[in-house]
Amino acid sequence: MTLGKCPYCNCGMIEIRDKEIQGKKVKLYACTNAHWKTEDGELFELREDASCGFRIWQNALSRYGKWLSFKDIRELLENQSLEVEFLSKKYGKKNYYSKNIILHPEYGVSVLWE
Ligand SMILES: [Zn+2]
Repeated sequence: MTLGKCPYCNCGMIEIRDKEIQGKKVKLYACTNAHWKTEDGELFELREDASCGFRIWQNALSRYGKWLSFKDIRELLENQSLEVEFLSKKYGKKNYYSKNIILHPEYGVSVLWE
């Protein structure tokens, strides 16, 4: 299953890879042309046969209480931006707020803080 076309290369599609980081299962949404020497950490070294390095970690925005679903990625790839709901916890109080996120060639996604 692929979620859409890679925004940063010609023929790549974004596929879902199952990863485990520090004992936690997490999805890596990666371009089919992207391959790393190790894929089990935050830092990557691209393999020689990789022609693209685009990827989005499912938990890239987890510090804002947001995990990126398949649907989120599909919409983000299609529209270049997506409105998501973040959660902040201050003094034990939960506060939801909306932000727009966009594609980022290096980080996968970035937040528009305005
Ligand atoms: Zn690509």
